[in-house]
Amino acid sequence: MLSYRHGFHAGSAADVFKHSVLVFCLEYLRGKDKPFLYIDTHAGAGWYPLDTGTGSRGWERGIGRLGGLGPEAPSLLRRYGSLCGMPLDGPLDGSLDGSLPCRYPGSPAIAAKLLRAGDRGACFELHPADFAALEGALGGDRRFSLRHEDGLTGLKSLLPPLCRRALVLIDPAYEDAAEYQALPAALEEALRRFPAGVYLVWYPLLGPGAPGSRRRTGDDGGLGEILMALNGGNRCRVELHTAPVGSPGLYGSGLALYNPPWTLKPELEAALPVLARLLGGGETGWDLDWRVQ
Ligand code: SAM
Repeated sequence: MLSYRHGFHAGSAADVFKHSVLVFCLEYLRGKDKPFLYIDTHAGAGWYPLDTGTGSRGWERGIGRLGGLGPEAPSLLRRYGSLCGMPLDGPLDGSLDGSLPCRYPGSPAIAAKLLRAGDRGACFELHPADFAALEGALGGDRRFSLRHEDGLTGLKSLLPPLCRRALVLIDPAYEDAAEYQALPAALEEALRRFPAGVYLVWYPLLGPGAPGSRRRTGDDGGLGEILMALNGGNRCRVELHTAPVGSPGLYGSGLALYNPPWTLKPELEAALPVLARLLGGGETGWDLDWRVQ
């Protein structure tokens, strides 16, 4: 079953949250003069038009709310905004003729902007139409290998990387109940093969009535807790609430990171209250569990 199309959600609150952390992690890896491998297990199409008129226009409650922050913008958001082609100054009225870009970069397009000549990218995408779009976007970029394969299964074949440095983004659509078991298993195996990698996993926060809420494994607080319990390495869990906790449907999303850059914590602490205020849950609508020695 592959009915999820990320184009309907491009630039949403979840994308703003996930991609601002992704940009930070990629820039952190670029800080060292050694190549790294970027692995995207669920890559999507690469680029998305923001003016389709047919989508859910998730961007209106996401990147569309970041305009006008000006000099107050925390650096995490400033870097993300500038990478998306949307400097965070000037008023934004939510219309596409403001400072909002007319197309939005998904995770592989963000990586393509930030990988250096010696870095490499490997992107998995199963949906035939999104894979074709991804080939159109990145097929000519010799730094990338594009795979029309299952990313959770294929991940282990790339680890450990020859260059001994990697950032792995795991960003499923959670359409299939089996992913709630397959993801922790794949991550555990990846960490066993390559414990030094930086891993970034996105997961939804679902209240009653959401299609995926019955799919949570265990009764210990959901996937975020399960991922935190996988092993005792340096890791963190950060959640952003776009509606009150436990609201019906999707009330926010979380990121679990293994080996997060140590400089990420103050960046998150500055950005999360701003993100929570702008994207819905009020200034206290976030949670950070930092377990880094
Ligand atoms: N990472 C993208 C971004 O940030 O721009 C968004 C990815 S979207 C949430 C999830 C994508 O995974 C969809 O395009 C879907 O077709 C694809 N997909 C679903 N199951 C997959 C699998 N087992 N392996 C690889 N891709 C898969």
